[in-house]
Amino acid sequence: MIMKSLYSKFAFITIMIMIVSGIISFFLSNAYYQVKLKQQNDAKITNFALEIADFAGKHPVISLEEYFDHVGTIGYQLLVITADGNRQYFGSPFRKRNLPVEIPKKVLQGEIYHGIREFPHKTFVTGFFANELKNSVGVPFEYQGKKYALFIRPDIKLMFNEMHVLFGWLLILSILLSIVFVLISTKFLVEPIRKLNRATKEISEGNFSIKLDIDRRDELGHLAANFTSMSEKLARVDMLRRELISNITHDIQSPLTNIKGYIKMLEDTQKDEREKRQSIKIVQSEVDRLSEMTKQLLLLSSIESKRDLMDVEKVNIASQIKTVIHQYQWSMMEKGIMISFTLPNTSISGDPNLLYSVWENLITNAIKYNRENGSIDVQLIEEDSQVTVIVKDTGIGMNEAEKDRIFDRFYRADRSRDRSVQGTGLGLSIVKSIIDLHHGDIEIESETGEGTLIKVIIPK
Ligand code: ATP
Ligand code: MG
Repeated sequence: MIMKSLYSKFAFITIMIMIVSGIISFFLSNAYYQVKLKQQNDAKITNFALEIADFAGKHPVISLEEYFDHVGTIGYQLLVITADGNRQYFGSPFRKRNLPVEIPKKVLQGEIYHGIREFPHKTFVTGFFANELKNSVGVPFEYQGKKYALFIRPDIKLMFNEMHVLFGWLLILSILLSIVFVLISTKFLVEPIRKLNRATKEISEGNFSIKLDIDRRDELGHLAANFTSMSEKLARVDMLRRELISNITHDIQSPLTNIKGYIKMLEDTQKDEREKRQSIKIVQSEVDRLSEMTKQLLLLSSIESKRDLMDVEKVNIASQIKTVIHQYQWSMMEKGIMISFTLPNTSISGDPNLLYSVWENLITNAIKYNRENGSIDVQLIEEDSQVTVIVKDTGIGMNEAEKDRIFDRFYRADRSRDRSVQGTGLGLSIVKSIIDLHHGDIEIESETGEGTLIKVIIPK
């Protein structure tokens, strides 16, 4: 795999950060040693050296050798030089005996040598650890009337006692443990992303029923929640799509079957004229139904592919509704339906053809699903920012389950199917799409056997 996984990237970056910050803090503390601690260290050791020299000077009865040996064993490295150049070392040996030649003489003459303070800067090595004679403090002293020079530095090896080893282990362990914890916590952080990744794959393969067990409150938790709701929506869309296809095939299939049957009957020479004319009529009406259905479907898909209204203009909806009523006067008369209306002159901006088909669909439904000698009432109410159109009928009504589905494409309540009422079930889904396109709203109140009230609200 060429692409690095998020996990290894994250772990790598964190460990790199740890290493880089370790290096930076080493440089910073080294600089601090060079600037500040070196002086203090030198001063401290100088004091100590002066104390030792002073003690030796004041106690001529002690054996110098024993005394310095003793100082050596408690953790110091020493060099004693006599006036005639004899050198004697005490304590653990220096790694380098590199004292500049002129220094012993200067110290014997009474100067103090600050080798620790003057030790040269080195970037990668703290001078503190350099076990060199040059890196020491030199003081003069007198013993039994003779001059001596004493060079001394602390024995770092001895200073690194158990406590220091402990601190060393502490450091190493904390580094190792933090690496382990980084690896583990990164795994936890990256795991939900892996799950989401797998879920995305599932969805792209058409499996929408995914369950993400990601229970977090952070951004990843939100992402997972949104992802789940997205997949639920996709599942619904997918289901609607399947349903639509099966509805279309069913609704096209049944008129075709009828047409086939009646055409066969027409071929039968035994049938008389009257029967044949009857068959032709039925074939004609089935063909009309198919053609109506494809027209409606075309309208529906053209509405849904429109994002904005195409032909917006001022539409006088009162006169549109009056035209619809006039157009369907005869079918109302046929059924003995009374119509009343309140239609004050009102205009809104919208697509005139689409709005016309809204009123047409609502009024034809109110006629089709009405009872004999029923009535229809149409109201137009104008408000400041919106208009409301109410179409109320005294028809067969709908129950709750039917009400929930009437905006679905091809949906027709069973009772209206049984009856000889013609329809495609597309009318109200077209209405709904048009209202949505006008940013409006549609509400239904209905009771079986009592009637239906449909309220359309459209912003001006
Ligand atoms: P189309 O309008 O395409 O000719 P349709 O009238 O059957 O066919 P819709 O207008 O979408 O289709 O209506 C869907 C269903 O809702 C109808 O079949 C009917 O069962 C029910 N319905 C609609 N309007 C009413 C109403 N006013 N009263 C009772 N039921 C109604
Ligand atoms: Mg209809």
